[in-house]
Amino acid sequence: MASVELKGLGKRYGDAVAVDNVSLLIGHGQLVCLLGPSGCGKTTTLRLIAGFIEPSAGEIAVGSKVLSTPQRTVPPEGRNMSMIFQSYALWPHMTVAENVAYGLRIRKMDKATIESKLQAILSTTHLEALAERYPGELSGGQQQRVSLARALVVEPETLLLDEPLSNLDANLREEMRFEIRRLHDRYRYTTVYVTHDQSEAMTTADQIAVMNLGRIEQLGTPKEIYDQPRSVFVARFIGGSNILTGKAVDAGHVSVTGATLATTGRALTTGETVSVSIRQHEIAIATAKPAADNLLHAVVSRQVFLGAARDYTAVLDDKTEVRVTAPPIQDIAPGQEVWLRLPAERCRALTGGIEG
Ligand code: ADP
Ligand code: MG
Repeated sequence: MASVELKGLGKRYGDAVAVDNVSLLIGHGQLVCLLGPSGCGKTTTLRLIAGFIEPSAGEIAVGSKVLSTPQRTVPPEGRNMSMIFQSYALWPHMTVAENVAYGLRIRKMDKATIESKLQAILSTTHLEALAERYPGELSGGQQQRVSLARALVVEPETLLLDEPLSNLDANLREEMRFEIRRLHDRYRYTTVYVTHDQSEAMTTADQIAVMNLGRIEQLGTPKEIYDQPRSVFVARFIGGSNILTGKAVDAGHVSVTGATLATTGRALTTGETVSVSIRQHEIAIATAKPAADNLLHAVVSRQVFLGAARDYTAVLDDKTEVRVTAPPIQDIAPGQEVWLRLPAERCRALTGGIEG
């Protein structure tokens, strides 16, 4: 069993805390994404798992073997892991094929096996035509694909990927997300995938751990993270959320700019200041006041026709701007008074302040 478990993991550099009490179980064969903004501790967590650095607190276990504690850390070469770095390092004097096959050669596999594994991975990573080139003759994106192929071909027990697609151009990045997920479905190695890109995480992950300031802020499936953000930070980081601020009038209602909204997500304390998130496509916009609850009065300040949808900005009575994604046939001019309907089950009461 190659589950990877982090227990109370911490890493300090002097007074600075890079990783703060992180606990996470990555089940055997699971792909977990560490998702968060630059500086939140993703790379440090990955380097701790790989054994390049020792923890200041906590431990890391693979299966039943404890590999890292502050007292004892098994070095990278003693772990059956492949890691791909943000900056890929290929051997300049070897061709693409030699770079990719290197890990198989040092494992002393027979020639025919090496050849068939090599051809398979070159084909899935679209590198067949480049097999005889040297790294210096490749673009950055092509080099990144070689490093991906090199890590995948050895079928490691654990695969660690640090922003592996960040140097690829947009089209290839999107294609490679699906490739990574497809390869994962085929080989099922336990994978930790670091990225700051929400769609990359949502395409590839079984579970997403959203990180902020060295801690895991929320862990869940892509759908849970998207539909049920628990904090202002997660709602903001996973795009497309409006955040409204109001005062709780009871455990399940918030007063926002004179109106009262029923909320979901957590029980409120009367009188507390609450941030409420709702996605822009979850709000309905209408020029006639609907016979419904959870309405806010607003004035359209801007609309953009996007083909498949219209993107509205509407200004509430207290001047808060709300973004709404509406069907393209719904054409409401700027300056028009509107009613926004915010379904109660979509108005999520969050933890944390507006400054996140
Ligand atoms: P991410 O990968 O999420 O961008 P990192 O894990 O690289 O973040 O860094 C987390 C924090 O730890 C940052 O504030 C970074 O400056 C700090 N840090 C990382 N490595 C070191 C180091 N070797 N010495 C001092 N501070 C470091
Ligand atoms: Mg990083």
